Amino acid sequence: MKVLVINAGSSSLKYQLYNMTDESVLAKGLVERIGMDSSILTHKPTGREDVTEVSEILEHTTAIRKVIDMLTDKENGVLGSVDEIQAVGHRVVHGGEAFKESALVDDVAKAEIRRLFDLAPLHNPAAMMGIRAAELNMPGVPQVMVFDTAFHQTMPEKAYLYAIPRVLYKKYKVRRYGAHGTSHDYVSKAAAEYLDRPLQDLKIITCHVGNGGSVTAVKGGLSVDTSMGMTPLEGLMMGTRSGDLDPAIVPYVMNKEELSVSEVNSMLNKHSGLLAISGISSDMREITEGMENGDANSTLAFEMYEYRLRKYIGSYAAAMNGVDVIVFTAGVGENSVVLRQKVCEQLTYLGVELDEALNAIRSGEPRRITTSNSKVDVLVVPTNEELVIARDTHRIVLNSQ
Ligand code: AMP
Repeated sequence: MKVLVINAGSSSLKYQLYNMTDESVLAKGLVERIGMDSSILTHKPTGREDVTEVSEILEHTTAIRKVIDMLTDKENGVLGSVDEIQAVGHRVVHGGEAFKESALVDDVAKAEIRRLFDLAPLHNPAAMMGIRAAELNMPGVPQVMVFDTAFHQTMPEKAYLYAIPRVLYKKYKVRRYGAHGTSHDYVSKAAAEYLDRPLQDLKIITCHVGNGGSVTAVKGGLSVDTSMGMTPLEGLMMGTRSGDLDPAIVPYVMNKEELSVSEVNSMLNKHSGLLAISGISSDMREITEGMENGDANSTLAFEMYEYRLRKYIGSYAAAMNGVDVIVFTAGVGENSVVLRQKVCEQLTYLGVELDEALNAIRSGEPRRITTSNSKVDVLVVPTNEELVIARDTHRIVLNSQ
């Protein structure tokens, strides 16, 4: 079965086409600047030259049509005809409490996603546009939604409720939902497989640290707590997001600076984190470079980022009464040797013993970075959220036939 994976943002659309017989990627790409002038389609057929096309793409339906044209193009395509696409998998950020696992797209599911627009105002409407566009371009082809939140639906009440009046949960479903679920799910399973140990027996802390970041406590294969909250703002310090802060700061600053709700939201989501503290960049590569060149603000930004990540690891070890495996993944987790080193150096109380030579190796494969004496295995596992979406889509469509 050939599965097209779509990750639609408000002005962008990423795609990957899988052949599920061997889970190979036939092509992938990205449409940027949808709705602006000069939209850009970058198409990457596996093993061949990238192709870039600039045109006017006003909305998602045209974007998907362009993607299909490219996938079936005589010169740069990888398909004889669009009919070869037998299923489409969509990344949907927020599944609320309604979706505990991936689901086939139907009218009921779509109505539920619309109800969740409030909880993910930036992301869910974009996913919906992607779904609608795929339906229009590929009528009759089954579509599946894969949610960032679904993996965390196993969290117990004590982890997902906030200590605020319960009526807010009853009326508005204010609670912790978490995010990056497909990634935490994938890397925890991949870690157990790599170690050749049963997932059911393991206490794993997965650190998905990229531009956004979250840490999850995975006990026996289930998410029991996670650092992102009702929205992806809570938890770790991130590229441009503040992460945890005293909630009283929000009304205080709003009052002092006469900020509106959307202004304060923008401040916390787009102008905080590494960017705010370093004053230079939200990109960990530039922060690391600044630190190496002795820039005090970059050094402080790095130290705060590392310290907050390490505190979450400690708190999840406490939550699970121990930890067997710690996994680093995503852009920073997979690539920053120095971040992993600084974190692990202060986890000796858990019995972590870093092997510096192993930590310095770069490879695209799961690997251990601790010594054979280490009481906790620390691994680097490259994440693959698209593959999880393709696998779920494949499984759900097969089961529905
Ligand atoms: P992601 O959101 O998972 O794509 O991660 C993106 C982030 O990974 C970028 O913003 C960078 O800060 C970070 N990153 C990528 N490569 C490196 C590297 N070699 N060292 C440190 N950080 C990196």
